[in-house]
Amino acid sequence: MTTHTSVPQIGHLIGGQLSVADLRDAYDPGRLNEVVARVAVGTAEDVDRAVHAAHRAFPGWRDTPVAERVQKLLAAAELLAGSSEELAPLLVREHGGVLWEAQTDFALGAGALQHMVSLAEEFLRPVQFDDEQSFVSVEKVPRGVAAAIVPWNMPVVLTMMKLAPALVTGNTLVLKPSPFAPAALTLVLHKIAATLPPGVLNVVHGEGDVGAALCGHPLVRKVAFTGGTATGQKVVEATVPTLKNVTLELGGNDPAIVLDDADFDAALDRMLKGVYTRTGQICFAVKRVYVPRGRYQQFADAMCDRVNSYAVGHGLDPEASFGPLNNEAQFKKVLNLLDRTRNSSATLVELGRKLDPSSWDNGYYMLPHVVRDIEHTAPLSCEEQFGPVVPLIAYDNEEQVIAWANDSDYGLGSSVWTTDPDRGLAMARRIEAGSTFINTHSFESLDLRMPFGGVKQSGIGREFGAIGLSAYVEEHAIRRLK
Ligand code: NDP
Repeated sequence: MTTHTSVPQIGHLIGGQLSVADLRDAYDPGRLNEVVARVAVGTAEDVDRAVHAAHRAFPGWRDTPVAERVQKLLAAAELLAGSSEELAPLLVREHGGVLWEAQTDFALGAGALQHMVSLAEEFLRPVQFDDEQSFVSVEKVPRGVAAAIVPWNMPVVLTMMKLAPALVTGNTLVLKPSPFAPAALTLVLHKIAATLPPGVLNVVHGEGDVGAALCGHPLVRKVAFTGGTATGQKVVEATVPTLKNVTLELGGNDPAIVLDDADFDAALDRMLKGVYTRTGQICFAVKRVYVPRGRYQQFADAMCDRVNSYAVGHGLDPEASFGPLNNEAQFKKVLNLLDRTRNSSATLVELGRKLDPSSWDNGYYMLPHVVRDIEHTAPLSCEEQFGPVVPLIAYDNEEQVIAWANDSDYGLGSSVWTTDPDRGLAMARRIEAGSTFINTHSFESLDLRMPFGGVKQSGIGREFGAIGLSAYVEEHAIRRLK
């Protein structure tokens, strides 16, 4: 086992103080014998200390003029963007992505922070009515202490989608990183926290009971969670006794619907970025593809040809198209889906090449798979795989494919692929999802002006834009009679 002395120690940050007790090793998912960081494991007591620190800092931060909060957070966005060169390689080594994906996480995070913060002054302006009878002022006030629990797949941007609206509207924050990608995120949050009054931004690490303690704490008034649907349900349960406001961004099983007039080359150029980027571990990745039966073989052949050029290896290898899966549970979950598919009538096509075959078993590596001739009702079509495996399902007509796309407990993203803009829009309007993209379905589909979130069991609420800010404020209505 390799443990370098230069391995960073990642502590809690509570009320401006670092604490590094009870460290555990965090390993590289692409080199399982390599320790990447030593990370503090917190307890419910650490959560309590962090929440009280945030609670003490709240009145001062709430009363800081909004323009000053905006300036500090715009400076934080620059700090974040400027940290990418130093910290993106560390992020690669802890979450398993390739370097450009980690750099994109920092860039998207800085962009999201900058964009949401720049909306705040107009958003927070009170709405007032002044007539002969009365003066009415409807004011947006922060809720108090907010809690954020963020996952490992894109930890920086998913943090900023919560930190930006929480802090700019005057809340203070306690954030819990994922135990599977805690280091780079925490190091950059320490830098940001140092530019803010102590206690405004706190970080507590943990495994097992920290998340629940945070969600159940009576002084926490807002919880924002990104992760799996099953844990999202537990988050809601933990908040019930104290009735907190909750935002959930959960799993998805995004359909991509290829229409019979689609340009396959153009569609595949873009769609494949949405399938295999981050090894398929993105909430709004393309998770099932529906292709018209008459053009099915042509599409499947073209897709397999392209995917066969992919190379899989460690994220710091510049030749890698994508890296390993993030953790053992995720790896086993995808292997299990592959096993169940292997025992069905579908055809599992393993593609691509191993960059370093001798190290293959020293990481959660998996080659890209395309699954042909699979039914809409197969487990791989119905369950969220979160891995580099995609089912291609043949359909007979538009009514059938819309019914199948909507036949899911999830409803996060989705896409329609066509050369006819009007037909694409008409189809998009019939899909039950938080977002539908036409001729795109990947990072490049995102537009900060679009609210992001899901319907059904993909979540509650939206992030980005004014609606994202509104999740962190209460409306306080004041009326003075004349
Ligand atoms: P989870 O969704 O289970 O989330 C883990 C986090 O939730 C940890 O920080 C954990 O903290 C916290 N947590 C656990 N139990 C509770 C609770 N009762 N109350 C509050 N917080 C709690 O992450 P996994 O990595 O296990 O992923 C599971 C699945 O989720 C994946 O297979 C994938 O399908 C999906 N996923 C979706 C993502 C997305 O972007 N939407 C991102 C990552 C995963 P603690 O350690 O303290 O328990």
